[in-house]
Amino acid sequence: MESITSVVKSSVKTIRKCILCEEREAEYCIKGLIKDCYCKECALEQFSDLGLLEKIS
Ligand SMILES: [Zn+2]
Repeated sequence: MESITSVVKSSVKTIRKCILCEEREAEYCIKGLIKDCYCKECALEQFSDLGLLEKIS
């Protein structure tokens, strides 16, 4: 029987959550500050300019 916890753990590792709403998947991070990641909505709210940010691929 395959352990469900190992599946959950590996998916948590790959998906980066937005640090503000902690709900949506992070799509952008500040240039040079990879640990701060935001979803598009929060990024626009915070910076109103996505030029400051780098898209996470
Ligand atoms: Zn967000």
